[in-house]
Parts: sequence; C-alpha cells; structure tokens
Amino acid sequence: MNLIGHEAIERELRSFAASDEPPHALLLAGPESTGRRALATHLAQLLNCAAAPGGAKAPAAQPGFGFELAPEPSEAWPCGRCRACHLIAEGTHPDIVTVGPGDTLCRPRAGDTGHEKHAQARDIRICQVRGIIDAVSRFPFEARHRVVIIDPAEAITEPASHAILKTLEEPPGHTVFVLISGAPESIMETVRSRCRRIEVRLVGRQEIEAGLGRLGFAPALIGEAAAASHGRPGRAVSFARQPDLMGDRTRLLSRCGRLASGSLGERFRYSEDLAERWRRDRDRQAIFVELDTWEAFWRTRLHRAADLPHGDRSPLRGAVEALKAVTQARADLQANVLVRGVFDLMLLTFPRLTLGEVAEEATTPHE
Ligand SMILES: [Zn+2]
Ligand SMILES: [Zn+2]
Repeated sequence: MNLIGHEAIERELRSFAASDEPPHALLLAGPESTGRRALATHLAQLLNCAAAPGGAKAPAAQPGFGFELAPEPSEAWPCGRCRACHLIAEGTHPDIVTVGPGDTLCRPRAGDTGHEKHAQARDIRICQVRGIIDAVSRFPFEARHRVVIIDPAEAITEPASHAILKTLEEPPGHTVFVLISGAPESIMETVRSRCRRIEVRLVGRQEIEAGLGRLGFAPALIGEAAAASHGRPGRAVSFARQPDLMGDRTRLLSRCGRLASGSLGERFRYSEDLAERWRRDRDRQAIFVELDTWEAFWRTRLHRAADLPHGDRSPLRGAVEALKAVTQARADLQANVLVRGVFDLMLLTFPRLTLGEVAEEATTPHE
C-alpha cells in the first residue's frame, strides 16, 4: 500500500468498501500532492480486490468446512497481488476511469459532426459527462464496483455540472464516483451536496518520514525531503526521487527575499514569467514548488513576528495576508482561472519588506 498518512481516512474508506451500500459519490477535498489520487486508487482496490470480504475469489462457505475458509484478515486487503489490485495500481483496469480536463470520454451529441477537438481544454465538458453517463450505464467489464474519478472536480463546467447531477445522485448499481478537488468551493453547490465530503489534510512530518522509509529511500534523504515537502507526501516523494529540486529551494528562497524587498516592477516581471511558464504548460509542478517556497518564506516571517514580545502587529498581519494569498493562488490555478491575474494578485498582496529584514533570512524555514 502506497498511502502516506491519512490513517483515519483509510479506515473510513475501508468501512465504505465493506458495507453493503457504499456511498455513490465521494468528494476528496484538500490541497494537491497530499495523496488524494492515491486514496481514490486505494478505494478502488478496496472495492475490487479478490481478497475483499465477498471478493470474487473468496471461496464459498461449505457446511462443516467453513472454519478452513475463513476470510483473510483485513490487513491483507487489498492484497496488492490479485489481478484487480495489479491493474488498478498500473492504471489499466478497464472499469476504473479517470476523467479530467481534455477529451477523455468525449462523446459528442448524436449528429453533431462539427464537434471540435479539445484535447488541450482546461475544463471538463458536457460531452465528457455524456461519455461518463454512457459508460456507467453498461455493465462493468470485470469489476465488482466501477470507480469513476473526476480530477479536478472544480473544472467541471456549469452545463456539465447540471448534466451529471442525476447520475451522481443515483448512479447505476456498482458505480462509485470520486471527485477530487483542491478548490471545493468552486464546485457547484448542487454537485458538492450530492457527495460525501472527506477532508484530505496536510500530513505530519513523522508520518511522511515513515512513508518514505517504507518506500526504501536513503535515511539521509528522508528527513530533508519530508521537511521540504511541508505536509505534502506527493511532493516529498518527488524530492526524494529528485533531490535537485530541493537544492533549487535554497535558491528560490533567497529569490523570495529579493523579490519581497524589491520594486513593484520586479514583482510584475516575476508574475509575468510565472504566467508565461504556466501557459506553456511546462513545469507546472515547478511552479507549485515555487508557491510552496513562498509559503515557507512567509511562514518564517509569521513565526518571527509572533515571537516579538509586543508592539507593531503589522508584520504579523502582513505575513498572514501573504499566506492567504499563496493558498488562494494555488486554489485558483487548480480551478483554471486566468493565470496572469492569479499571480498579479498574489504578488500585490505580499507586503514589502526592507532590505534589513530580508538580510536576516534563514535558509531553513520553520515548519
Ligand atoms: Zn487484491
Ligand atoms: Zn467533446
């Protein structure tokens, strides 16, 4: 099992999977790189593993011999070895579908010959919802429970949201929807209210370290990667795989200092640069790492301001506003709003620091 942290959620998913009537639709709400996809995949395995209670290969009880055929203990479920577990982990199970922006499951209306291609689209469209409805109306190929993952759910357009409501509420038997969102408030209320909401929170450093240990990373790397990930196991794994990214962090952190004490013009040039890189669709992951770095930068200032005995509260307020701005920017990026505005707003909200304040910048931020 590749889950890092989220033990309480794991237990909850397990009990859903074991119940006679699992919820039709779940919403995994929380920041990116925290393990939301891993949780969705885990649920799909819990629902379909051959070793699950009532699993496909669970031998039928025979009178007099039932004791020999007791179900396996729940720790062995999902087993990670059966066909369903394998295919789901590989992402090739025919009944576990992930729909995102682009043209997955695009199904134009009958007779609509002019339907434009939209592989590069940033939203989830009504034609894709038509595809989803069509898929779930058929029997699964081999799964006991088909799982439809929609990620990010805030990308569902309004017409598409209306179109999917009824199916979310009463999906044909054996289908479970998992919506994933870093900006759940941007999802239409009618869609949100039809889902059982689970908050996926940041994970503690020790749990991340333990998780990286289970994955076999070198002990020397684990502490550093866990600290740099700021509660995001997905990021910690990237750092452990590519330690270079962490080296970048020190460089990025000192650039944060320069920008925070620099002119407005410099901020706007930086904003423009971020927006351009985002538009080119390259290193989006690197942009999220930069946002993490800003978060670390402002968190350090917040701690420092809070440590001051008394007096001027404005550094504290400034840091709080800056942290909110970073969170908002992250959510907006995931909701695919106009990116230039997102970065401008964030950079404009950051308070201006003096050079003296920046000079004392430590390279290792507070946790
Ligand atoms: Zn299995
Ligand atoms: Zn389409």
